[in-house]
Amino acid sequence: MDLIVQKFGGTSLSDEQSRRHVLRHINRELEAGTHLVVVVSAMGRSGEPYATDSLLELARLNGDALPQRERDLLLSCGEIISATLLCSLLCAEGIAAVALTGGQAGIFTDGRYGSARITEIKTERLNMHLSEGKVVIVAGFQGMTPDGEATTLGRGGSDTSATALGAALNARIVDIYTDVDGILTADPRWVNDARPLSAVSYEEICNMAQNGAKVIHPRAVEIAMKAGIPVRVRSTFSDGEGTLVTHAQVLRTQGIWFDKTVTGLAHVRGVTQLAVINRDGPADVQLRVFRAMASHGISVDFINVMPTGVHYTVLANDSQTAIGLLRELGFEPTVRDGCAKVSVIGGGMNGEPGVMAVIVEALTNAGIPILQSADSNTTIWVLISEHQLAEALQSLHTAFGLHLTPAREI
Ligand code: ADP
Ligand code: ASP
Ligand code: MG
Repeated sequence: MDLIVQKFGGTSLSDEQSRRHVLRHINRELEAGTHLVVVVSAMGRSGEPYATDSLLELARLNGDALPQRERDLLLSCGEIISATLLCSLLCAEGIAAVALTGGQAGIFTDGRYGSARITEIKTERLNMHLSEGKVVIVAGFQGMTPDGEATTLGRGGSDTSATALGAALNARIVDIYTDVDGILTADPRWVNDARPLSAVSYEEICNMAQNGAKVIHPRAVEIAMKAGIPVRVRSTFSDGEGTLVTHAQVLRTQGIWFDKTVTGLAHVRGVTQLAVINRDGPADVQLRVFRAMASHGISVDFINVMPTGVHYTVLANDSQTAIGLLRELGFEPTVRDGCAKVSVIGGGMNGEPGVMAVIVEALTNAGIPILQSADSNTTIWVLISEHQLAEALQSLHTAFGLHLTPAREI
């Protein structure tokens, strides 16, 4: 069976006009004889009635008293509304369709409310509806525990629903439709000459997504990579092919990808830098600090361990807890709030000299101090002050010539 999974994000479903574009993409694939599973997100963005953020506001009424189980039940409604509404649109057009919740679609998860992991997908019901010739619309972002409780997969989780269904059904491709032309060299809300990339490897987009590029959820990419299912990130509002994501080796053999030194930039805002200086204190300061952070589930970044102490960062949401824990241990940390992490990412960076020199030169010329840095063989991270973020991203984008990224044919 030739099968495609299409996933439509919140902005692609928010109004009548957008849903007409969705219909166009569905019709095009149906006319080509393709079977379709269509995964949908909750309609619209923050402020719109059925968006996940609006449901979250409802969940916070009554002083956050809503238990986790019921919170997930409430949040899962956004995607169910989208699925049923799209089903009515298809039925009105004479297209046979069925709308399913995550649980009805056979998506089983563990019981971690708010960030559940998919454990299994039972495909019998999906296959039955597909063999009846129906478009199967699945509410994204949700699943069900083995005892029938509704769960949600964490923010941005509809992407994960889509690639997990693609893997379970052995889809030809998973198309992630969104409000931009594909994966761009940087977040277009911050860099106005960011360019769409025609192809990237799973590793590169996973790296970008883990470092803050919210265009696709990193877990969704990991699932696609493991199953070897190609993904395309593309616009709902055009017929462009978007960005193809697959194994670097596949792209290389097709001649549509080369190991660029720098592919793109990503960023994370709201970072706090903490420094614990250990002059005459205990010799095991590092151990005490990181054990305390780990035991409270605080994830740490930019870790710099020196004989004189440690420097590291936490997300601003965790900073008060982290500072409290350090004080309980008898340390008085130096705190720098209002930082941002900028990641310079490229699969071909390994062994390529001069990347750090370009970064330092660009930021120095823009008068932006680097507060800390770290690197791996595919990424260089710099910590800067958040109020200089837009300028930092723009200068690095220009310094690496990313605004000249050519549009290549796939
Ligand atoms: P959807 O509702 O379709 O899932 P998202 O808001 O989750 O949409 O993701 C799309 C958004 O991701 C874009 O509007 C864009 O602002 C943002 N984004 C961040 N980094 C990038 C990037 N490198 N390329 C493309 N979009 C990006
Ligand atoms: N609606 C959910 C969210 O806003 C899931 C998604 O959009 O992927 O996080
Ligand atoms: Mg999204």
